[in-house]
Amino acid sequence: MIDLRSDTVTRPTPAMREAMAAAPVGDDQFAEDPAINQLQERVAGLLGKDAALWLPTGTMANQVALRVLTRPGDAVIISRGAHVMWHEMGGAGANAGVQLIEVGAGGRFTADDVAAARVAPGHIATPPTTLVAVENTHNRGGGIVFGAEEAARVCAAARDGAMATYLDGARLWNASAASGVSVRDLAAPFDLVSVALSKGLGAPGGSLLAGGRDVIARAVRYRRMSGGAMRQVGFFAAAGLHALDHHVDRLFDDHANASLIAERLSRSTAVSIDLATVQTNIVVFHLAAGAPDAATLISRAADRGVLAFAFGPRTVRVVTHMDVSREACAQAAEALAALAEGV
Ligand SMILES: *Cc1c(COP(=O)(O)O)cnc(C)c1O
Repeated sequence: MIDLRSDTVTRPTPAMREAMAAAPVGDDQFAEDPAINQLQERVAGLLGKDAALWLPTGTMANQVALRVLTRPGDAVIISRGAHVMWHEMGGAGANAGVQLIEVGAGGRFTADDVAAARVAPGHIATPPTTLVAVENTHNRGGGIVFGAEEAARVCAAARDGAMATYLDGARLWNASAASGVSVRDLAAPFDLVSVALSKGLGAPGGSLLAGGRDVIARAVRYRRMSGGAMRQVGFFAAAGLHALDHHVDRLFDDHANASLIAERLSRSTAVSIDLATVQTNIVVFHLAAGAPDAATLISRAADRGVLAFAFGPRTVRVVTHMDVSREACAQAAEALAALAEGV
């Protein structure tokens, strides 16, 4: 099977498994796990923040971020299609009690969008907007990069309006590889940043929140409240440290493979795809009128050994990663194009 459903499907390499088996571990709730402590320090340093906190998932990182940076009843400005709205089971409402305001298009928005959507505290009827969240790269936007300059303007507008800023950087390493801007510079304007080890970096789990000491200290409380405070998770940290050493530079390969797939699909009249959105390891495409719908295409593709993911009735996502070769991607693109054309 050529599994392009997500970059989360990768399995630890033999070298990563060795690093995990050799991890020094301890009880992380007492801050006594050496591998976790090392990873937290390393990621804080890479992102240019005072401190970092390991969490089991990126979803929990987002949920904890909302708890730390908002109060129940507040409004939060997010990008249209953001993970925190579409892929977290309503957690923003259920856990943090906030309402989300989608702005912009295709995963991007501007400082003007922030100014237009913001409601100041003290309005007689409308909840105050207290947080602006950016997703980089943007999953439903097709893996597009949120540019560093726009992010700086958005965060400046947020600060002007006394709003906090959060970066969902589950794929921030992809954004950095594609833009040539360091993760540190991409993270710089934000109060709080999350990164994932379980996406393109190929670790079996783990995300981190990074920010100021005070914000991270508050995140510790909500991690425990969410049931995410764990014990000997240095095994995961060792996988993460290994991934930072060995799997960052190879993200360029995933991006090249995604381009290969996108270019092949764009030559099919049964597919509509905006090549400008294909900047990293995600390809989102639409099935033209007359082509099968997404569910049909995906089940037929599975019969031919290719797994993809339906993002909508006629919208399909494929994601490249370290467990699929260039040849496998070329083969998958041929199969998807042929199936879209009803061949
Ligand atoms: C995958 C993802 C998350 C959540 O990560 P999990 O570890 O799967 O919970 C959050 N934000 C974005 C943008 C993601 O792609």
